[in-house]
Amino acid sequence: MLVELQVDDIVRLRKPHPCGGTDWRVVRLGADIGLKCQNCGRRILLPRRELARRMKGWVEKAASTTAGQS
Ligand SMILES: [Zn+2]
Repeated sequence: MLVELQVDDIVRLRKPHPCGGTDWRVVRLGADIGLKCQNCGRRILLPRRELARRMKGWVEKAASTTAGQS
């Protein structure tokens, strides 16, 4: 499954973070995707393929404007 991600998207993972949070903000794109827990603020890096496997769905899509930032 190919997942189209943008910085500032909010995604929900199947398995909750130990803090109880399930929603993550995309903070970095690349071979690894940087995610920030919306509950406790901790950041993690997940390979794109791993994220696609763990993802349950979108909570919020960032506005599809071409912000041009990387
Ligand atoms: Zn957390």
